[in-house]
Amino acid sequence: MNKILLILLLLPQLALSNTLPRQLAVPGGIINIELGSIETPAPEVFFQDKRVLIIENNRKWIAVIGIPLKSKAGVHSILVKSTNTTTEYNFDIVDKDYPAQYITIKNKRMVNPNPDDIKRISSERPAINKALNTWTEQPVEELLFILPVIGRLSSPFGLKRFFNNQPKNPHSGLDIAAPTGTTISAPAPGLVINTGSYYYNGNTVFLDHGQGLVTGYFHMSKITVKAGQIVEQGTKLGEVGETGRVTGPHVHWNVYLNKTKVDPALF
Ligand code: ZN
Repeated sequence: MNKILLILLLLPQLALSNTLPRQLAVPGGIINIELGSIETPAPEVFFQDKRVLIIENNRKWIAVIGIPLKSKAGVHSILVKSTNTTTEYNFDIVDKDYPAQYITIKNKRMVNPNPDDIKRISSERPAINKALNTWTEQPVEELLFILPVIGRLSSPFGLKRFFNNQPKNPHSGLDIAAPTGTTISAPAPGLVINTGSYYYNGNTVFLDHGQGLVTGYFHMSKITVKAGQIVEQGTKLGEVGETGRVTGPHVHWNVYLNKTKVDPALF
């Protein structure tokens, strides 16, 4: 009898403790820092002057911090602002040597855009940046994601990339390869904040999950949601395609925390 009671008492706690993303103290990774009891009001947390997501876990406030890929190894800190106090918390980042990847792109304008393409790319940037810089105060419902596409993980996050032997930005997301037309689903509840057809990203959907947790889905053949629409975990967002800069049909999945791209595999 006592044993059953104990298990029942432990169960909700176990479920709650599972909702944090996996911690990985490297550039492109995530740090979870316990801040204190939820009996005190939620503090505001800043990392490199950017607001950080706070979630309740086991009756404690936890800061979930995205570490930029460009971060140097060493000690970093967050500022925790409560009603009357500001406290600094330190944490360590170690280096990670992401492997290199060499990709051949047949459409040369996707590697070296012409002046008209460059104009288009810069005209698209404000809409994309606006989506990525979204901050909404509502509590985050779900940090335990489902995979947006059933398919093959074809390219991990963080690879140093060379397109036609030219060094480019590192791989900012996780690629899942699947046939054109495969359903792309929302990995967690959220709000559609932007849909569009962009030069490199192709047909794109951005979701806001609250408190700076934003996800993006690129290269779609079809978009089946509209900006302003609320989605549940599993709601169809569209279909896999090969629009934008690709070598074959896949979804490129981005996850942003505090305006920083992090490894989606940690969710
Ligand atoms: Zn990708």
